[in-house]
Amino acid sequence: MALTLHVDADAWRAQQAAVLADTPGLVPVVKGNGYGFGRGLLAAEAARLGVPAIAVGTSAEVASVRSAFPGDVLVLAPWHPAVDEAAPEPADRVVRTVSSLAGLQALAGSDVRVVVELLTSMRRHGLSPAELGEARPLLGALRVEGFALHLPIDRGEWGRVEETEALIARIWGAHVTLDRLWLSHVTPEEVARLAASHPDVQLMPRVGTRLWLGDRTAFVTRSTVLDVHQLRRGDRFGYRQRRAPGPGHLLVLGGGTAHGIGLEAPKQARGVTERAKAAAMGGLEATGRALSPFHVAGRQRWFAEPPHMQVSLVWLPEGTDPPAIGSEVDVDVRMTITTVDRVVLDAADASGSDPSGSDLSG
Ligand SMILES: *Cc1c(COP(=O)(O)O)cnc(C)c1O
Repeated sequence: MALTLHVDADAWRAQQAAVLADTPGLVPVVKGNGYGFGRGLLAAEAARLGVPAIAVGTSAEVASVRSAFPGDVLVLAPWHPAVDEAAPEPADRVVRTVSSLAGLQALAGSDVRVVVELLTSMRRHGLSPAELGEARPLLGALRVEGFALHLPIDRGEWGRVEETEALIARIWGAHVTLDRLWLSHVTPEEVARLAASHPDVQLMPRVGTRLWLGDRTAFVTRSTVLDVHQLRRGDRFGYRQRRAPGPGHLLVLGGGTAHGIGLEAPKQARGVTERAKAAAMGGLEATGRALSPFHVAGRQRWFAEPPHMQVSLVWLPEGTDPPAIGSEVDVDVRMTITTVDRVVLDAADASGSDPSGSDLSG
């Protein structure tokens, strides 16, 4: 396998348990690339946690979590008649977000379960206070499962609590019942503060990053060494037929653009040494003068040329023994943009026993 995410299952689940404990009402977010783990695996983990609901990003993602998670699935992307083709089917266990008057009007009278999103200082989606007043007569004709607020991350101390309090007052001011409030990007302290002042409101904090990626030591991505070639100075290699800057080894490592490797803008070579190295690798005009995310023999190595679709060519200068074909090297990846070929849950206490690999689908 080319790119493998190794997970220390006990440590990963301990982090999940800690978040569940400090965030009552937790709604795990399972969207996009499944935070690097895949949506199917995260849905199964959420089922283990025993939470009543999870959130996905888009309606297209519902199918990928359905079989693994028995509870409600909230779709975070708001349904809008001008954006989404058809009115959603009132499918069991699916809750849609609606953030516009047009959306509420189109769904009034249907059986679709909806969460009504209000506009916050994020200004992404949501009804304004004036629209909430206008929406009031429609709400009786809808299956409303609460209101939702998506708050900004940089908001200063207690800024999100103040903003939430102000919006709760708006909801009451519109004489609308508020029994459930779905919240995004609130801290455990903020949830506790809001719970204390609103014991009658069921708070549903939606959390992804802290839940799945909160303990960085619980997982590591590794690349399989697929091939190794000894090169002399001046030997040509790769699509660009560059010449080796000196003697060394060309490593063919699993993981390329299809996995999300190297899509980031190449890091600027800063110090004199880095510039010198970049120059040695083929001149500063070359696009491949980027440090790769691959670590070999304890150091981050240079791309020999830009990453290919599924593999990367990495340069290992003379003086370091190349890794063996079939061994693995560590890769620094951004979890939210990386698609691995395989996730392996390693049980830390099962030394020597077979790890249960779960293939990623969805
Ligand atoms: C992605 C998302 C979340 C989860 O965000 P994290 O930072 O990963 O916890 C919550 N709410 C909404 C609306 C989102 O789009």
